[in-house]
Amino acid sequence: MEKATIRNLKEIKDKRVFIRVDHNVPQDDKGNITDDTRIRESLDTIKYCLDKGAKIILCTHLGRPKSKADTQFTVKPIVKKLQDCLKGVNITLVDDCIGKKVEDAVSKLKSGEIVYLENIRFYPEETANDPEFSKKLAALCDYYVNDAFGAAHRAHASTEGIAKYVPAVAGFLMEREVKILGEAVANPKRPLTIIFGGKKIKDKIGVMDNLLKIADNILVGGGMTYTFVKASGGQIGNSIVDAENVEYCKNVIKTAKAKKVNLVVASDCVAADKYAPDANTRVFATNEIRDGWEGLDIGPKTRAAFISVIQKSKTVIWCGPLGVTEFDKFAQGSKEIGNAMANCKAITIAGGGDTAFTVAKFGWADKFTHLSTGGGASLELLEGKTLPGVAALLNIKEVR
Ligand code: AMP
Repeated sequence: MEKATIRNLKEIKDKRVFIRVDHNVPQDDKGNITDDTRIRESLDTIKYCLDKGAKIILCTHLGRPKSKADTQFTVKPIVKKLQDCLKGVNITLVDDCIGKKVEDAVSKLKSGEIVYLENIRFYPEETANDPEFSKKLAALCDYYVNDAFGAAHRAHASTEGIAKYVPAVAGFLMEREVKILGEAVANPKRPLTIIFGGKKIKDKIGVMDNLLKIADNILVGGGMTYTFVKASGGQIGNSIVDAENVEYCKNVIKTAKAKKVNLVVASDCVAADKYAPDANTRVFATNEIRDGWEGLDIGPKTRAAFISVIQKSKTVIWCGPLGVTEFDKFAQGSKEIGNAMANCKAITIAGGGDTAFTVAKFGWADKFTHLSTGGGASLELLEGKTLPGVAALLNIKEVR
């Protein structure tokens, strides 16, 4: 059943609209925002509400504070950044999330103005999904809009609980994320290819299990490669291995064969004599890596093989960097694969934090169909799961 979006609400002029955004942006030691993508991606929904003359209440989490005492987790830098994006708009930061101060600020709100609440995780009731806390949040508004895709896999008070007490719909970012990622796995344009990279197999098991049922091609690169190669009996030198998941990888290889999924594990790598940006490098077959060497990037044969599959695909999903992109020497494989995706005709999706960040860093953001803003949430959608933050929203037919 289709979920309602803010477009389905008939009249929001002069109404108090509570928008849960995901402005959980990375910051450096001094509190400077190092990547403002999540703020920029939320602007469509905010601007729509401003144009329609709504009174806006914005709410986000930031990091993992234990209580209000963790003042370094204040949303102040975010509000400053948002003000730069919305010049001339009156934005008031209230240093609380519920209570008299907030109620006063909201009651003074004029149409086209914004009240920004302090970090919602200053209250442990948020992550506990406390019903009383959810009710207090709901009492602040006439409508609730969930645009926090990155937090939609969590059933928290401001992402799920609140939706029980006030009409709740999706924002535009939430709509786009769920539509593109959801359709890519529910109703894909084929051939469907998924590229796995990164080093943590554990995080991607759910996605791999689901994609084994539906993908045409599964390409494995990055640090995950070596657990697969070990599962097939290869020599991986000092490369990273996830010992707990060797058996799992054996099963993936078997299942892919049985289901006729084209599983391509990186066949060569650029190996380093130490884990460092200035390491000496050598190309090895991934199953013949000498002791003292560790594979830190996919090699030239693998790049060519992956690019050939990408060029024949109609949907390509990329999950996890294909090498240690933090070091320039080992970023080349990811650059070439990203470039092939940016210039192919398929629907191209970068799923999850690191990958979307890598794509943006290399300047292909505009050439991909979609860069997902949610790490865990995008993985759960690719697993075929329903996100609690989405399940809680009204269906279109329920909107009055
Ligand atoms: P993940 O969170 O599982 O997506 O892993 C991302 C991390 O994997 C990045 O920090 C990369 O540096 C790392 N990574 C990618 N390829 C390799 C590799 N061949 N060896 C070690 N780490 C890698």
